Amino acid sequence: MQRIAVEPQQILDRTIYLNAAQEHYLKRVLRSSVGDRFVAMDGRGQWWEAQLVMGDDGSLLGEIDRQLDVSTELPVSATLFAALPKGSGFDEVVRQTTELGVSRIVPVLSQRTLLNPSPNKLKRWRRIATEAAEQSERQIVPELCEPLSFREAMAAVGETPSYFCVARGTVPHLSAALQTALEGCDAGEIAIFVGPEGGWTTDEVQQAKDTGCQLVSLGRRVLRAVTAPVVALSVVAAVWETR
Ligand code: SAM
Repeated sequence: MQRIAVEPQQILDRTIYLNAAQEHYLKRVLRSSVGDRFVAMDGRGQWWEAQLVMGDDGSLLGEIDRQLDVSTELPVSATLFAALPKGSGFDEVVRQTTELGVSRIVPVLSQRTLLNPSPNKLKRWRRIATEAAEQSERQIVPELCEPLSFREAMAAVGETPSYFCVARGTVPHLSAALQTALEGCDAGEIAIFVGPEGGWTTDEVQQAKDTGCQLVSLGRRVLRAVTAPVVALSVVAAVWETR
């Protein structure tokens, strides 16, 4: 069944008031019509099965049949701090980590980041996250934050258990680090850091250690800056979904 993201304020008395873009998408792109069913998700954890009906003014509305309660979310809230790769590589990072269950994505401007994104980029990434959340049947749309400098990103982690991916060196695998953390306590929230094409600088690695981040590996091969976040989120999902 087709999924669309709606704002909570679009729902009133079991009726979903579709906006022009949603109506266009359902009618013109999906060729849906009155009587067809779809799933509406409010991006904050709630979703409903609804049927398309015709409003008094000829517009399409959604009539809610029932609230759905199957959870597709990871049992842990994972924030990805990813240094921006060059070009449009971040589009894929947003799309694929959303499919894998990331809760929050923070673009990071590290010392070797080549891209300083325009406000339009952020809008584009938010749209991609919404589409990917719909496609992967998630109940929440991950939050896409404003880019932070490396220093701001370090300050933002606070007490959250944080894993800092480094392509070289003898450090534990992320999977082992997460398993060990889970034995000690049931972390409800974690943060993962992934660097840019040129890697982290020595100074950034030192700052991460000083902040209390654990340095981790994603295996013996050097992954591209767009591959590493996907691998990291896959490991997080595997660890939590096989407990
Ligand atoms: N030449 C860079 C270096 O030596 O660090 C390679 C950087 S890599 C293309 C981009 C980022 O992906 C790295 O900063 C790291 O965060 C992550 N990464 C890539 N391969 C990794 C691995 N095997 N283990 C952990 N992190 C990895």
